Amino acid sequence: MFKLCMNSQKKGTQRNSDTDTSANVIVKAASGEPPIQNPRLLDCEALSKKTVQDIMLKPRPHWVGDGFHVLPVFNRKAFTRDTSPFLMFDYGAPKQFNPTKGKLGVGQHPHRGFETVTIAWQGEVEHGDHLGNRDVIHAGDVQWMTAGRGIVHEEYHSREFAKTGGKFEMCQLWVNLPKKHKMDPPRYQPITSSSIPTVALPGNAGYVRVIAGCYGEAIGPSMTFSPIDMWEVRLNKSGACADLVFPEGHNTIIFVRQGAASVGASQEQLSEQDVALMGEVGRQVPVRALADDTMLLVLSGQPFDEPIAHRGPFVMNTSKELQQASEDYSSRKNGFGNR
Ligand code: MN
Repeated sequence: MFKLCMNSQKKGTQRNSDTDTSANVIVKAASGEPPIQNPRLLDCEALSKKTVQDIMLKPRPHWVGDGFHVLPVFNRKAFTRDTSPFLMFDYGAPKQFNPTKGKLGVGQHPHRGFETVTIAWQGEVEHGDHLGNRDVIHAGDVQWMTAGRGIVHEEYHSREFAKTGGKFEMCQLWVNLPKKHKMDPPRYQPITSSSIPTVALPGNAGYVRVIAGCYGEAIGPSMTFSPIDMWEVRLNKSGACADLVFPEGHNTIIFVRQGAASVGASQEQLSEQDVALMGEVGRQVPVRALADDTMLLVLSGQPFDEPIAHRGPFVMNTSKELQQASEDYSSRKNGFGNR
C-alpha cells in the first residue's frame, strides 16, 4: 500500500469528486478522465474490529504564541509509542479574532527530525522560513512540511485574515520521521483543497476526504516517509455510519473535531474534541454519528519501534542527537544555516 501511495504522486492520479450520494459511490474524476467506480473496499463483516485502547477527553486549551489557541489532543500520550507514527496533535477549535494590524502567531523557532502537518479549516495560516520559503495555507488546504535536518520558521495568521478578522480553526500534527530520514533535506508539500479527493459514503451518509494514504480507490496527494492514512470523515446525520478499514498492524486514532460519535467494536462514545486510540490489533473501525454534522479526523499509520527523544522543537532518537540539534541551531549550522 505504501508503494501504491508513493507512486500516486505522479501527475494525473489525483482525483476530485463531489459528494455523490448513490450507493455505488462514484468518484467523479478530474475533467478529461473517466469516472472511477469505487466499490466498498472489502467484505467488512469478515474483518476483525478494533477496540478502543484509550480515550482522552477534550483537554484544556493553551496559547501557542499569541495566535493559536489549541487543545493538546494527545495529552499525556504525546511523544509516546502509543500514538506512533504521530507525535503530537494541537487542535485550534473555531475562535473569533478581531481585525488587527498586528502579527498574531509564533515567532522564529527551529524544528528537526519530524514533519509538521498544518490543516486550515477556517482562516489562513502564513508561514515563512530561513530558506526563503513563504506560503499561505488557505481554508481547506493542508501544508505537509518535512523539517528533516532543519527548518527555522515562523507561523502566524495571514496578513489578509488579520486585516479582516473572523473565525479561525486549524490544527497542527507532528508526524515522526523514521531514523534514516531524520536528517533528510527539508521539503514542503502545499496541498490545496482541490487536490484532495473526496469519496461519498453509501446512502448519503457523508464523505471521506483523503489527505494521505488510500480510501478505496481514492489516493491522497501527500507523500509520506512511512505508510500513513489521514482522512477527514463527515457523517451528515445522527445515526449515519461508516466502516473504516485499515492495513494490518497499523495504529489508528480517531478524533472528533465536531459533533459526537461511537467508535470501535464496543461502540464507545466520544464527545466533541475527544480522541480514541484504537491501537494496532484488528482491521476495521465502525463509526456512527451521535449528532448531525459530525466531523472526524482519522489518523492511522505503521508505528515504528524506534526510541523517541523529544525536547522542545526537536524529535530525535537519542539525547545525544538532541544535544547536537541544540548546538547546531545555536551556531546556525548543519541545516539551520542559510544554505
Ligand atoms: Mn513550527
